[in-house]
Amino acid sequence: MSTFQAPKGTYDLLPPDSAAFLAVREAIAAPARRAGYGYVETPGFEHVELFARGVGESTDIVTKEMYAFSTKGGTELALRPEGTASVLRAALQANLHKAGNLPVKLWYSGSYYRYERPQAGRYRHFSQVGAEAIGAEDPVLDAELVILAVDAYRSLGLRDFRLLLNSLGDKECRPVYRAALQDFLRGLDLDDDTRKRIEINPLRVLDDKREAVQRQLADAPLIVDHLCEACKDYHEQVRELLTAAGVAYEDDPRLVRGLDYYTRTTFEFVHDALGSQSAVGGGGRYDGLSEMIGGPSLPSVGWALGVDRTVLALRAEGVELDLPAATDVYAVPLGEQARRTLFALVTELRRAGVAADFAFGGKGIKNAMKSADRSGARLAIVAGERDLAEGVVQVKDLASGEQGPVALAEVAETVKERLV
Ligand code: ATP
Ligand code: MG
Repeated sequence: MSTFQAPKGTYDLLPPDSAAFLAVREAIAAPARRAGYGYVETPGFEHVELFARGVGESTDIVTKEMYAFSTKGGTELALRPEGTASVLRAALQANLHKAGNLPVKLWYSGSYYRYERPQAGRYRHFSQVGAEAIGAEDPVLDAELVILAVDAYRSLGLRDFRLLLNSLGDKECRPVYRAALQDFLRGLDLDDDTRKRIEINPLRVLDDKREAVQRQLADAPLIVDHLCEACKDYHEQVRELLTAAGVAYEDDPRLVRGLDYYTRTTFEFVHDALGSQSAVGGGGRYDGLSEMIGGPSLPSVGWALGVDRTVLALRAEGVELDLPAATDVYAVPLGEQARRTLFALVTELRRAGVAADFAFGGKGIKNAMKSADRSGARLAIVAGERDLAEGVVQVKDLASGEQGPVALAEVAETVKERLV
């Protein structure tokens, strides 16, 4: 062991588990890619002000969870705590929204950083895959994004997740609701911090996880009862489109995102086997965000799914992913000439698309065969001087132990046939 350990709230991804992680990332992105979302990659850090404005000065993410720092040159930066603000910033900076086709559809995948209290499923360094559709207001687009997330989970074999759905209204009806909610909240018995929150960010109070707070919220006014006709109609269309696509959802009138630029459709995916860290992903419409960071009006919608928690959810359900073998063929050379010949053969196999590995370090046959077994390979190729003199290698089935000679020139072909 080294003197060092990974910092608190982080963990290393290592083989063999890392393969599942990678597969989950790819599977989450696949439906979005098929739907015309292009890959975007932004820096791991941004100007702190982007997040202060784009995530919201009153949110926990900005006030408590952000890794903010000033550089030697005096620039105020922060490690990215989420993806949407950066992606929108990048799209605006490159004028993608002026290139013609709206919405601009983008997906991303990467590491995010939040200074949180670490616990199972809650880390300081975690991984998300996200998708954003920028510059269009259309219930079909909201439905598309939800369907893409559902299809991603389903393609992984995840079953016990639930989709919670709500509408947050728009600049027409939300202010009326906000005022009604504030009136109600001001009459409750709450601590000072929460009282402050009522004034800045009252919807967030609905999201308070504390029992004593939740109990008092039983009669809180709900946004559904305040939606304007346009928002009602929009939301109804989203719901119908989801139903038509075979996507089940639960109306959750208390599901909120705290900030004014989140509008209309909002949703969250929860998995009940994950304890209190049950959210595996979330998203919604953010029609006001672009203006908030200095851009034009660009109604947009998107989601971010947590890779770490999706992996935990799959594990909790006992889902075994169908992963390609790390090694299909393992070569065991006996002697110097065999080393060169088999290494050339392994290279040829790899170039032909076969996952092949090699007994490095001049191991004795016993040790080398153990390594072959541990590698998970289905076939071993063994050759010594005598085999090579006869122009053959021995191909051994590692499960059955069956072994026989194969002419050198035919090994690649034979191996490929036997692996299908
Ligand atoms: P939570 O309510 O659990 O704190 P959140 O609302 O902060 O979640 P989002 O900002 O919507 O989460 O991020 C989208 C997804 O990213 C979450 O649903 C979750 O799966 C994942 N995620 C968020 N924070 C963490 C974290 N600290 N560790 C691991 N995954 C996380
Ligand atoms: Mg959080």
